[in-house]
Amino acid sequence: MFKLVCGAGNEDAESVKRLVYVYARAGCSLFDISARKEILEAAKEGQKLSGVADINYCVSIGIKGDRHITKAKINDSKCIKCGNCYRNCPNDAIYSSIIIDEKKCIGCLKCFEKCPTGAISMQEKDVNYKEILPYMVSNGVEFIELHIMGHDKEDLAKKWQVINECKPKFASICIDRENFGNKEVLERIREMISLRDDYTTIVQADGIPMSGGDDSFKTTLQAVAMAEIIQNANLPVYIMISGGTNSKTAKLCKMCGINYWGIAIGSWARKIVKPYISVPDFWDNTELQNKAVEIASKLVEDCK
Ligand code: SF4
Ligand code: SF4
Repeated sequence: MFKLVCGAGNEDAESVKRLVYVYARAGCSLFDISARKEILEAAKEGQKLSGVADINYCVSIGIKGDRHITKAKINDSKCIKCGNCYRNCPNDAIYSSIIIDEKKCIGCLKCFEKCPTGAISMQEKDVNYKEILPYMVSNGVEFIELHIMGHDKEDLAKKWQVINECKPKFASICIDRENFGNKEVLERIREMISLRDDYTTIVQADGIPMSGGDDSFKTTLQAVAMAEIIQNANLPVYIMISGGTNSKTAKLCKMCGINYWGIAIGSWARKIVKPYISVPDFWDNTELQNKAVEIASKLVEDCK
């Protein structure tokens, strides 16, 4: 299973529409999108244009403290206009005038890490999950994912309960080791899956979230290591690998004896088609569309 991650925080409807169009034609059958009505509509438009019928959607939300639900904000009084943030944003969310387009910001922290003056802060932007998740399930979304790498256990419990009450076909837990050690990671998963039937949960083993900027074995190493930790725990779940995934992930998994159910790719998958899908006349340019599909198809194939 190949999952294209459009981004939990990606509210750029046109880019989601184009990504779904390209990757659906390339053989991807599962798309991870932001839990917003207009984004689901945009994804379905892209699917319709692709002519591919059998597509599933996963919507993602996060608990307080998880970076997937944060957006960058610039404090103008501290900004020296050095341009580091603009040059390092992987999603074109910062204009050269050093203004952030919040809809495009996916909370990757790259600008935050590169700012020399501390002018950038990350602020949480949550959705009304009690309203939006039932809407998503009743509109054909079969997977709901919760990013759980924050310290607020009360928020985690509340959101997990709502997800379970929605009865999606699969619930997904996205977890990494940025804030916690292996023991606590596994404790969290065990506690959460105790509320669910066996093999109705996917654990998305996130290496380093949103780190897939290149196509090396080194970049994907942590994702495979995280998958191994989940595999060794023998839990009744399916393992999806993410966070630094690329065209080398499947190969490294096979070398290491990791039995994955799927590979989710965000940063790398978006990056390789970006020169094509960001062109203004994309919808009028069949040659450009076909080139993007050809590149995406190779990645989907490499993940089998
Ligand atoms: S670098 Fe990342 S966090 Fe900063 S604006 Fe761009 S997408 Fe958002
Ligand atoms: S990196 Fe920081 S100081 Fe430089 S332009 Fe961006 S916000 Fe301003």
